[in-house]
Amino acid sequence: MTSQSYLLIKPEAIECGLRSEIYESVKDAGLNVVCQHEFIAQPRHFELGWSDLRKDLHPLEHVVFELWFAGKPVELLLVETEHHAHQAALLAKARIRNDYSRGAFRNMVHAPDSDFEFRLQLGGFDTGCPRCSAAATRITSDHDTPQAFSGGTLLPEELRNPDVIMEHVAPIWNDPQSYFWSLGTPEPWQVSGPGERAYSTYLRYSPYDLSYDNLVGALLDSFPGMTFGRASELLFSAMNRSDVAIATGTRTDVTLAQRSLMRQGLNLAVRPTRDKAAGDHR
Ligand SMILES: [Zn+2]
Repeated sequence: MTSQSYLLIKPEAIECGLRSEIYESVKDAGLNVVCQHEFIAQPRHFELGWSDLRKDLHPLEHVVFELWFAGKPVELLLVETEHHAHQAALLAKARIRNDYSRGAFRNMVHAPDSDFEFRLQLGGFDTGCPRCSAAATRITSDHDTPQAFSGGTLLPEELRNPDVIMEHVAPIWNDPQSYFWSLGTPEPWQVSGPGERAYSTYLRYSPYDLSYDNLVGALLDSFPGMTFGRASELLFSAMNRSDVAIATGTRTDVTLAQRSLMRQGLNLAVRPTRDKAAGDHR
């Protein structure tokens, strides 16, 4: 019994002319390409294919998809092997990312984590071809799909609007100096009085078991007065750099902040604040 998965070649890989290298890595992982489609990505593909992350609940995720993909060429490779195609596709993905990534959002390929994601996402891309359709789950409304992160903290109601989020995120996404691309060291949130920065809290590992919306939602919930822009800057920087402190202050205040974030699914450590002069790797 053969097993199938897929890889999506992202716009930046097509732009950089990396396709033949990617085909080679896919072949090296023991996968045969059985169907191949190049098309222009549309927001609708992600609304359906990622409907386990519904747009009305996770608008930031979909705004990022839109900025990253919409109107740009992508290529879908339906791949096949004897056994465990998803594992082989994830291995190919890891190798390609390791060899060719040029930053957090320049990671060249996507592959699904599970059979559920494979069928749902393939259905969202709707290539119209019989071979891909046979493996896909076709849905017409995103409201029927079981949600991937049903326990996470949502963004506040007034921010749960894709247009409002787009207004915040598009200028930052399009600015080459912004934290999405330059990954500098943002100032941590001060939870104690000025000058109290003996302890800080850091993300322990990339928290990909929550959506971006949940992660930003948790920061806004834990730090009253924080803006959406500030929360996203701290979060996206901390997800990509282990030395970016989320919050700083006395040990007690930092530990309280850490507990509040841990309750909402973020895994954080409290450590003495790193010396700026010694720890600044900009
Ligand atoms: Zn196909």
